[in-house]
Parts: sequence; structure tokens; C-alpha cells
Amino acid sequence: MLASTSRTAMNDEGRHSVSFDVHRVRDDFPILKRRIRGRPLVYLDSAASAQKPKAVLDAMQVAQETIYANVHRGVHTLSQEATDAFEAAREKLRAFINAASADEIIFVRGATEGINLVAATYARKFLSAGDEIILSELEHHSNIVPWQLLQAEKGIVIKVAPIDDDGNFLLPAFERLLSPRTRLVAVTHVSNALGTVTPVRAIIEAAHRAGAKVLLDGCQAVPHLAVDMQALDVDFYAFSGHKMYGPTGIGVLYGKKELLATMPPYQGGGEMISTVTFAKSTFKEPPHRFEAGTPAIVEAIGLGAAADYLTALGREAVRAHEQALLAYASQRVSALPGLQIVGRAAEKAAIVSFVMEGVHAHDIGTILDRAGIAVRAGHHCAQPLMERLGLAATARASFGLYNTMEDVDALADALKIVREIFA
Ligand SMILES: *Cc1c(COP(=O)(O)O)cnc(C)c1O
Repeated sequence: MLASTSRTAMNDEGRHSVSFDVHRVRDDFPILKRRIRGRPLVYLDSAASAQKPKAVLDAMQVAQETIYANVHRGVHTLSQEATDAFEAAREKLRAFINAASADEIIFVRGATEGINLVAATYARKFLSAGDEIILSELEHHSNIVPWQLLQAEKGIVIKVAPIDDDGNFLLPAFERLLSPRTRLVAVTHVSNALGTVTPVRAIIEAAHRAGAKVLLDGCQAVPHLAVDMQALDVDFYAFSGHKMYGPTGIGVLYGKKELLATMPPYQGGGEMISTVTFAKSTFKEPPHRFEAGTPAIVEAIGLGAAADYLTALGREAVRAHEQALLAYASQRVSALPGLQIVGRAAEKAAIVSFVMEGVHAHDIGTILDRAGIAVRAGHHCAQPLMERLGLAATARASFGLYNTMEDVDALADALKIVREIFA
């Protein structure tokens, strides 16, 4: 067993070292004290939804107890304080992804809504029959189905960039798909099913050279990596709060200011208008143009707290800790007889998908649960990817900043028992 309690890494700026004490970090997460079937919880399902630290839970509770009111409409004190807190959260998210302006941060329900927003506004307005969108074989259903809906409506063409058998994104093959008709490239930054980190800088550069815009699905990137909108020069970037230790019901769509300015509204209603008459309505500037109706006020404040929490821990320290977990988990799991890791890309986030010979992934998940270990089993909302790999399902252990080397040992020991049951 490896010693795991603390780890030293350079911080984001690389100026001085910060220490990452995982056992202290675990104390920030009340749910990790739970026992499951009499055993300590080993939570390895953060890629589906990460647990929330007390800082996030407290920020939401305090907001509801002290400043809660509807935003943007009121002249009274509470409404102004709620508006200030909501807009302060927008600024926190801007800083978190280093966007140039807080006006580029649109609060949405999650990545799914963010991608649908781009499809329903930008793509519906600017793409016509025969125009091409490039996706990849790694995509989550939420970055496939919105484009198919648009395809049915407008006759656009969907092309799919391939991966190799290890789950690596194949850059040269992608570049060959680019054509003068390519209008948009919509790919994931990190695969939720395999952990593959895609070569986003090269993808963005090649797409821009071809005159196409780029949307990245950043759901699995923001919890694991520092992301920088200005350095990436990406056009749209979508992610969900609940994958980055924040609440459900809130997420962010980043869009470049000059693009957002050209886009029509997504939904109509309150908050997004300047004037309304029965003859005609006029709309606010972005981001408010895209935020019709009362937003998820408390959840936005919670997401701001999650961004602060990750920043305070140090994104590079988190990454280093998770990379150590990934290396150890890959080694332990692949050493087990009859077990095969699915997804061995050169660059990965801390996600380990695997199959066991002769055992269904759901049975693995059920038996691991008896040992208090939470993993996901299934197609991970990526059925085309599973089909590409010739699999119906995998079991997936996904790690977060609160996981330990002991968690990896617990997983490996329980998998040995699964093996024995089915031997
Ligand atoms: C979870 C996830 C989504 C969808 O996020 P929602 O929060 O369900 O909207 C999209 N893409 C990836 C890669 C994901 O992991």
C-alpha cells in the first residue's frame, strides 16, 4: 500500500509549493462520514456527481437565511443584496475559467442546457443545409442529441472524429474532416467514460484555421484541470456545477462576447427583456438576454463557493493528487486477473473504466456496493462510444480530490472478491 496522506505540488502560478492533505480535505465533506451497509463509504462516482464541501453547503444556507429574495427586479434591500451575491458569483466563475469579462458567463441549468443553448441560438441562426458540424466518438449524449435535433430541422451534416482503441483522440484524422463547410466543432475536453483528455489547443487552432467555431464540453475538465478561456481562445465552453463540487441545477455556458452579441435569445420571458409591448419586445445585452425567468439564485451562489473552494485548494495540487490516484488505481486494477482497463489514452483525468471477463458491469457495481464502494456501471451516456469499443457497458471508478490511496486499495480488494464469486 502506498502512503497517501499528503503530497506537495507547485501551485497554479508555480511560485511556491502548497501542501495537499487529503485527510484534512475529507473533513470538509460531511457526507464522507456516512457508512454504507455498515462499511465506510468509498465514493468513486464523482464523474456522475461530485460531493459538496461544507463551504458550498454553508454558502447556500447562509444566503437563504440572510439575503434571499428575487434578483434584478427589486428596489428593496434584500433584492439588492441577493442581486449583488448572484452577480458576485458570476464574477467568481469568470475568474475560475479566466474569461475576459463576466458578461461572457451565462448561468444555465448545466452543460446539457448550455450545449442546447448554442444549438438553438447560434447554430440555428448561422448554419444552413449542408453546413457541417464535427463531433467526436468520445461524446456524451448531451453533445450529440442537440445536434441531431438541429440536423432534423435544418439539414446540417454531422461528421464524427475518430479515436483509437485506447481512446486517444486522433488529431490528423480530425483535421482531414475539416472542410470549407465546417461551421462548428463540438467536442469534449475530457471524456466522462474513459478519462481521455483531448488535445483541445490543437483542435481549436485547426478549427479556427478552417474558419470554424469551437464548443468544448468542459464538464469533466473543470473539476480536474485549470482551464483558461483566454489562453484556449475557445468560442464556447459548457460545464455543470454538480461535477465540480457545486450544486445541481446550475452550470455555465461561456461564450465569446462578440459571438454572444450576434445571437438571438434562447427562451423568452422576464429578466431577458429591455422593453415589451404587444407589437414588439427588445432584449437585454448578454448574458442577461440568455437568462429568461428567475434564475437558480442560491445554486449560483453555491457554485461561486465551489469555484472559490477549488481555487483555494490549488488547482495544480488537486491535479497532482488525482494523477497519483489515477496511476495507482490503473496499476492495481490492471494487475487483477480477468480485468481489463478500457481507455488507456496518453493523457487522462482520474477516471478508470474497466470490464471483467464473464461478469456484467452491473453485477460488479452491485457487489461493490455491498462493500460500501460506489462506482457507476453502464454506458455512461456515451452509447456510440461503447459501440465503437465493442462493449455494452463498463464499470467506472471516477476519483475526486477527496479520494485516497486507501480507497483504491478498497476497490482492488473488493474486485478480487467479485472475481472469486464468479470464478
Ligand atoms: C455530466 C456530463 C454532461 C451532462 O451534464 P449535465 O449536468 O447532466 O447537464 C455532459 N458532458 C459530460 C462529459 C458529462 O460528464
